[in-house]
Parts: sequence; structure tokens; C-alpha cells
Amino acid sequence: VETCLFCGIASGDIPADIVAESSGTIAFRDLNPQAPTHVLVITREHHLDVTELAVAAPDLVAELVRTATLVADAQGTPAFRLVFNTRAEAGQSVFHVHAHVLGGRPLLWPPG
Ligand code: 5GP
Ligand code: ZN
Repeated sequence: VETCLFCGIASGDIPADIVAESSGTIAFRDLNPQAPTHVLVITREHHLDVTELAVAAPDLVAELVRTATLVADAQGTPAFRLVFNTRAEAGQSVFHVHAHVLGGRPLLWPPG
């Protein structure tokens, strides 16, 4: 039994609507979408957040951004926002690194 939700998705134990995969990453639709395109890109390996990933496996940061770009293009939303909520105070609720790919509607700036 996986103790981490996104490790469960990576292993296939927990179903997800997968839209892209690479050797080190998986992209799937967010359960509670905040935009017409709202996809999460995770690493297959468990890492806490993007700051930990950048130290432990910097090549995976690049691969994750590459997958996010491919997803945005494939979804027809090449203008997109890539968000890493990092630490609970910033809105992180799942402690397995993930990038939110958001697009398909006007995105306010500053985000608030
Ligand atoms: P965070 O709040 O950590 O930045 O983002 C976690 C995201 O995971 C949220 O947007 C939430 O909607 C999404 N999420 C939570 N549980 C599940 C799930 O079981 N499946 C999917 N596909 N997304 C989930
Ligand atoms: Zn995990």
C-alpha cells in the first residue's frame, strides 16, 4: 500500500487521467480543475518538492518542464502558467513534487 497519493498514481495503484508520460515523469488531469487545461506533472520517483528535486535530481527538473511544455502544446494551450506550490503555507497539499500546468482561460497577474 502506497502512503503517498502521487506515488500511488505513478505505480498505477490509483487511477488517473494520464495525458503524457516520459521516462521520468507522468502528466495527468487535476481532479479539481481550476482552468480548462489543468494538468499535474509529477516525477515517477518520490521527491518532496521542487527545491528538493533541484538538489537531488536536477535533470528531472528539466524533464518535468519539458513534459509540461508538451502537455500545454498537446492541449492546444501553448500560453500557460507553470506553478509549483512549495510548502503548506504556499498552498502545497500533496508532498510529492508536481507542477500545475494551467491554461485555456485568461490568467490574472499578479495571482494573489
Ligand atoms: P497542491 O495543492 O499540492 O499544489 O496541488 C495538489 C493538487 O492535487 C490539487 O490541485 C488537487 O486538486 C489535486 N489532487 C488531489 N487529489 C487528487 C487525486 O486523487 N487525483 C488527481 N488527479 N488530482 C488530485
Ligand atoms: Zn510520492
